[in-house]
Amino acid sequence: MHDYSSPWLTAEHTLFRDNVRRFVESEFVPQRERWTDQGHSDPAAWRRAGETGLLCPDVPTEYGGGGADFGFDAIVYEELSRACVSGFGCAIQSIVAHYLLAYATEAQKQKYLPRMATGDIITAIAMTEPGTGSDLQAVKTRALRSGDHYVVNGSKTFITNGYNANLIVLVCKTNPAERAKGISLLLVETDGLEGFRRGQPLKKIGMKAQDTCELFFDDVRVPVENIIGGQEGQGFFQLMSQLGRERLMIGLQSVAAMESAVRLTTEYVKTREAFGQKLFALQNTRFTLVECATEARIARVFVDDCITRLIAGTLDSATASMAKYWCSERAQEAIHRCLQLHGGYGYMLDYPIAHYFADNRVSMIYGGSNEIMKELISRSL
Ligand SMILES: Cc1cc2nc3c(=O)[nH]c(=O)nc-3n(C[C@H](O)[C@H](O)[C@H](O)COP(=O)(O)OP(=O)(O)OC[C@H]3O[C@@H](n4cnc5c(N)ncnc54)[C@H](O)[C@@H]3O)c2cc1C
Repeated sequence: MHDYSSPWLTAEHTLFRDNVRRFVESEFVPQRERWTDQGHSDPAAWRRAGETGLLCPDVPTEYGGGGADFGFDAIVYEELSRACVSGFGCAIQSIVAHYLLAYATEAQKQKYLPRMATGDIITAIAMTEPGTGSDLQAVKTRALRSGDHYVVNGSKTFITNGYNANLIVLVCKTNPAERAKGISLLLVETDGLEGFRRGQPLKKIGMKAQDTCELFFDDVRVPVENIIGGQEGQGFFQLMSQLGRERLMIGLQSVAAMESAVRLTTEYVKTREAFGQKLFALQNTRFTLVECATEARIARVFVDDCITRLIAGTLDSATASMAKYWCSERAQEAIHRCLQLHGGYGYMLDYPIAHYFADNRVSMIYGGSNEIMKELISRSL
């Protein structure tokens, strides 16, 4: 937007942004409608994204990543949001990569990270179950040790990348008698895995191109060496220490969507006429857009501060939760108002504002609902 530039943005980031924008426009935008109809992106698109450096840009080069900072990752989400491509779940790939970097054994890092960066491995994180979402410590999926394997039973739902993923970070109880202390993260390789089944992509009100699935585990055998970090009972603490990153990503995606909504709506009202004048000439239109643009700018400055802190390693989890809850709510309000300025066309899926409206709604729910964010923030007061 106009004369504002993010303080973390360097010349290398700008160059990367140009490349990502060209790539997304030429390779993803033409697929957008087909992905929406089928309910998932294609594995080939993941490999193309890997070749172009979109996957794991801030993972060290020794593990096949781009060796850059979180700003490069942020640019990928901003550009996908700008192009209204909501079906490509690379944010999950980034989150899993950082779980592995932080907690996995050296052998696990070497085994998975390079192929995640090329897009040959597509990942998912399976926390939520039909019976429990917010109360993560109550998950029922069990992984009970039997010799040199865990035997996994249970089911998961709402899992992003669930249709395409061939590596799942499974949140499960290795000690069902405990709550947080009983949870472990298990790396489940799904190719040819007996007893594992996935449902068809779930039908959602938005994000229709993103494969959100149910997963079923019926006496699935996973080698004991696939527990992240090699030690049972660490899963909940591993999850909690990395969720800040995921929450900032959701805040950032919300800001990018809000900025796009303001930009697209401004263009629209400068061409559409009513009562012999452009809609932009009406004071209500201009004032609404000014208010949305101002909120978008405030949100941008806030997430930029969070990004700067994340790069410096000083982002605390309460601030990340603030970014997630506040930016997602501001975005939903702004998009709602921008849609109104489109009149009936805003309700038509031919117009991107309709997609932003439907796609962004989930930002207030997933990654920990906004109510849970407020609970977490309140502990820091
Ligand atoms: C499109 C989509 C993609 C998703 N992707 C993933 C994924 O990749 N992996 C994954 O594991 N999960 C995923 N989820 C699941 C998501 O994280 C959960 O839906 C979310 O955490 C909420 O859990 P729930 O749906 O069980 O709601 P519930 O926990 O049943 O909550 C229902 C309502 O009660 C409120 N509530 C609950 N507890 C409290 C409390 N203590 N105080 C105040 N209010 C409370 C909630 O805020 C919510 O409004 C996805 C969901 C969607 C819709």
